Amino acid sequence: PDNKGDALATTGKTKQSKQSKQDYRVVAQKLRAQRESLPIFSARSAIVKQVRAHPTVIVVGETGSGKTTQIPQYLLESGFGTIAVTQPRRVAATSIAKRVAEEVGTPLGGRVGYTIRFEDCSSERTQLRFCTDGLLLREILSDPLLRRYEVVVLDEAHERTLRTDILLGMLKDIQRERKRVAELNQQAPEAEEEEEEEEWHRDHRSHGTHVTFDEPEAPVAAEAEAPAVASAVVDSVHGDVTGVGELKIIVMSATLDAERFAAYFDAAPILYVAGRQFPVTTYYTTTPQADYLDAAHLAALQIHTETPSTSGDILVFLSGQEDIESVERLLRESAGSFPAGVPALLPCPIFAALPQAQQALVFDAAPEFTRKVILATNIAETSLTIPGIRHVIDSGVHKARGFDPRVGESLLVEPVSKSSARQRAGRAGREAPGFCYRLYTEADYAQLAEDGVPEIKRCRLSMVVLQLKAAGVDDVMGFDFMDRPSKKALKHALLELFALDALDDQGALTPLGRWMAEFPLEPAYAKVVYASQAAGCTREAIDVVALLSVDSLFYAPADKRDESNAAQAVFRSSDGDHVTLLNLLRAYTAVNGDAEWCKEHFVNRRNMKHVLDVRVQLNRLCARLGLDTQRSCGADVDAVLRCFLAGFFHNCALLQPDGSYRSLSGSQAVHVHPGSALFGKKTPAIFYDQLVFTNKLHARGVSAVDPLWIAQAAPKLYGRLSK
Ligand code: ADP
Ligand code: MG
Repeated sequence: PDNKGDALATTGKTKQSKQSKQDYRVVAQKLRAQRESLPIFSARSAIVKQVRAHPTVIVVGETGSGKTTQIPQYLLESGFGTIAVTQPRRVAATSIAKRVAEEVGTPLGGRVGYTIRFEDCSSERTQLRFCTDGLLLREILSDPLLRRYEVVVLDEAHERTLRTDILLGMLKDIQRERKRVAELNQQAPEAEEEEEEEEWHRDHRSHGTHVTFDEPEAPVAAEAEAPAVASAVVDSVHGDVTGVGELKIIVMSATLDAERFAAYFDAAPILYVAGRQFPVTTYYTTTPQADYLDAAHLAALQIHTETPSTSGDILVFLSGQEDIESVERLLRESAGSFPAGVPALLPCPIFAALPQAQQALVFDAAPEFTRKVILATNIAETSLTIPGIRHVIDSGVHKARGFDPRVGESLLVEPVSKSSARQRAGRAGREAPGFCYRLYTEADYAQLAEDGVPEIKRCRLSMVVLQLKAAGVDDVMGFDFMDRPSKKALKHALLELFALDALDDQGALTPLGRWMAEFPLEPAYAKVVYASQAAGCTREAIDVVALLSVDSLFYAPADKRDESNAAQAVFRSSDGDHVTLLNLLRAYTAVNGDAEWCKEHFVNRRNMKHVLDVRVQLNRLCARLGLDTQRSCGADVDAVLRCFLAGFFHNCALLQPDGSYRSLSGSQAVHVHPGSALFGKKTPAIFYDQLVFTNKLHARGVSAVDPLWIAQAAPKLYGRLSK
């Protein structure tokens, strides 16, 4: 199947290149008027002027005003060099890149491209690259001064994701360093040896041929007159620094509290872009809703039957893929039995694991006599603007990452903040007056927090601490955070990395830690893959990591619980969910992903396909990092479980005399998720992939292990268990 994936990708490319230059230009021409009618268009020259005049500029503008799609184009048109635009979410990065490529009139992956984890659609020619914030962070490891970019745009900064916050700090550092280097270079304008000069030219060409600003006229070396020590230091930390100009930073936000960003960047100017917003009438439920999925389904039906379909599409905000797929299923069932005369209803889900062609459907106009119901997470809050929406249904919840050193990391379905709820409502009034239906009471709304808490204050920090260390930030506690995480959380991350052997007892990065930082996965998964080499089960380890990369591979419609349960029993292993997933993958591969088979077994085919994609990418990456990806342990599944423990020893729980499980790290009560193969079973010890909080803490992705293995996996923490 891996080879097949490759073949498909190539065919796709060939097809795309058949579209002629002329076709691209025609599309761009059509979009031109639309571009010029955006509120931001009148601010074009002011924006460019400010960016030229200041190292950092903050841009604030209502969602839909044109920040993301237009500002990078304005800069490109004004002659700025290579630009990176970061997004907190993969889906946003890819779909915005697609839109901007259309507006520019070039094939995606040419002048305009994107790079996200496991997927690179860019080339040497790419001058405008959309990427996730996590990806740019990783890029700093191989290019510490981000030399290839002249401008970095941090988009959606108001969301304050963990990675955006870390990027803010690192970019500030890089900007300072590049300024210093540029000044050093200017002091030493003597030409270097020819050889190096040539290299600089080659380097420079490959990063775009446009006129750039603040760039020294001629290639210069830091050596000649500059203080020797300074340049030596620079060289040792950042490699060759000749030809690096200053870095422009643009921070973009959809909410008004921009002063903090401005202050953080030494009083950077703030540009406000006027928006266009029609009034939105908001409704609340009179009583609290027991089940927001049911409520969302009914609300959508009600809007559809009581208002003409020409009155605009519906956008529903839900917490995640599972929610989205449940509501999609409910809507499809209801839509099948509409009486004659009722227009069709077309559910359009959008989430990361959905194939891109299907994600794109969200933006297409609905066919005649059809109304679209877009089912989204908070990605549609400010990142994506979907045309045609007049009705918004707000479940009032989202999924938030949480972290408690005693429990570990968890994913919680939580009430949104007032500011999120307002953003959601705003989506109904982009093109005309609209309506927002909140599936909660007005009293509940009054109780919501004004703003969300920055992720950095409530997340597991091990991955970013590892990346900071790998990027040369030794004193993580002293890092210039915009919002400082608690000392306790930082310490916990350092301790975890120490237990994972990524740091030594002095807090310095180990060779293994450096290797793990290269890996675009949480350190725990990287450790699992690493451990699999010695254990001889890299193939299985990669399989399971890929399988765990999606929300859920099985589904159980409420009215067919027993049926789906029985059908899925064939995969279930008494070892737990990890082996169950392996069984599923083998069975799925054996039938070649047959659609009918998936239906019979209630297997989520969409997600299985995504798993295969991820596996191809992981295999490539591992091969590049020098692993033998085909090393297999066959039927010896214990080897696989022990590898997982090497990374997940902090996610363990022991069986108590009363039959409950308690987490090893914090003695919290942990319940096996009802969807798990180990639900209702008792085994001396378990480890789990993640915790989900609903009414209690549920462990998902659970496997049974020998308590002794835990001690062996983390002697630094749990050595006492073996005594
Ligand atoms: P902002 O970043 O300020 O929220 P965007 O640059 O994302 O705004 O969007 C600007 C405008 O471009 C939107 O109002 C919308 O009309 C249009 N637009 C953006 N993406 C798409 C798309 N994929 N399909 C159609 N129109 C789009
Ligand atoms: Mg935007």
